[in-house]
Amino acid sequence: MNYQSLENKVHHTRYPISVLFLLALISLAAIFITFIQGALSKNYLIFSFLLISFILIYAGWIFHSDKQGNLKLQKGLKISNEKKRKFLSHISHEISTPLTSLQESLSLVLDGSLGEINEQQKKFLAIACQSVKRVFRLVDELLDVSRIESGVIKISPQPLNIAVLARGVMQIMQDSAEKKGLNLISLIPFHLPPVMVDQDRTIQILTNLIDNSIKYTPEGKIEVVAEEKENFLKVSVVDTGIGILAQDTKKIFDEFYQIKQERSDVFPGRGLGLNIIKSIVERQGGKIWVESEPGKGSKFTFTLPIVPSSSFQHLLDEAIRFGREEGKMFTLFLLETKNFEEIGQKEEFKRELELLLKETMRNSIDIVGIEKDKIGMVIWHLSEEKIGFFISRLKNRIKTHKFSQLPLKSTFKIAWAHFPEDGRSGETLLKKIEGKREINL
Ligand code: ADP
Repeated sequence: MNYQSLENKVHHTRYPISVLFLLALISLAAIFITFIQGALSKNYLIFSFLLISFILIYAGWIFHSDKQGNLKLQKGLKISNEKKRKFLSHISHEISTPLTSLQESLSLVLDGSLGEINEQQKKFLAIACQSVKRVFRLVDELLDVSRIESGVIKISPQPLNIAVLARGVMQIMQDSAEKKGLNLISLIPFHLPPVMVDQDRTIQILTNLIDNSIKYTPEGKIEVVAEEKENFLKVSVVDTGIGILAQDTKKIFDEFYQIKQERSDVFPGRGLGLNIIKSIVERQGGKIWVESEPGKGSKFTFTLPIVPSSSFQHLLDEAIRFGREEGKMFTLFLLETKNFEEIGQKEEFKRELELLLKETMRNSIDIVGIEKDKIGMVIWHLSEEKIGFFISRLKNRIKTHKFSQLPLKSTFKIAWAHFPEDGRSGETLLKKIEGKREINL
């Protein structure tokens, strides 16, 4: 049993309670009408009172025992899920250890390290390697399902560039696409805003969708596209494959749901992949769906939340409020680029720079915001001695990063002021920064 079936059980018992309350309401209405008509006898009043009390006590009793039962069920379910998870993780460890040595041995023979092998031996060893990989994947999927069911799946969001992430995944999958004669293309623009997601889990989503597309596309191409939509990025994997019938498009996200394949060249899966990635997408605050036409192809789309970026003033006010309330010190930096006017896509450049700064400083930085040609940053508790270290680190990152929108001879300048030492309001801090000597990066 899982949480969904438990949920259904709870809904079932709400029905009789509602009926009882309705009965009580009708009885009350009847008393009221009789009272208005002046025909309310003492016996009738006592009888009605007893009837309503009985109904309410009975409803209360059902509700109470129902709640207790559900609590017990929930507790039992949690324990059994935990046991299942532990059992699976134990079994997976037991299976993975001999499998790893099997895989290593097979690879050693396959790549000729132990002596030459003929083409036929190569072919059969390659099949054996593929089968070992499939067992590894099955173990991983079963572990994921049990982690999701017991609610222990870990999601650690961080700002990421989806184009970079997708390109990395596609490089790995290029080989299997080429083997089937398929074109695997990324059409994701580099300058989309960063998303706030778990890196490994997002790689898992993309890998699974692209892997399925390769599996279910006999010829043609697979494209990965992305666009910005309100506070999300919509990422789609589009193929020219066998497609999915309308009646199956909702069900394929269910656990263990598979469509019977007519083609014999399609390796049967386990019907777990889409179910797992749906849970991951939803845990990251997104949605996933598919549009498809049998014989023409499928388009799987999922959404990822964009890193919220705030205005300069708003975030500076927030930092000052927090600094005052908590008695914390911070340093406000202003980063400026001189030939800002020459940069074509300014919004995209700002996003790229913002992402770079966030990556450089990891979690110790709050981007204050971007306004005109300046970027503001707040760093908490940065001593004067550490500033030199921070500046040289930033200098290095900016120098080695290849900005796609930046003219070759760009220069960055940076200046800073400390809160509360140099000023206790945004205005005084900014004035102080203007008066300070800037450093060229
Ligand atoms: P499986 O391991 O069986 O591929 P999934 O959960 O990944 O499990 O997929 C469930 C079913 O959805 C598959 O069995 C397949 O029939 C269908 N499916 C998934 N992706 C595609 C696709 N790109 N084109 C056609 N059918 C697909």
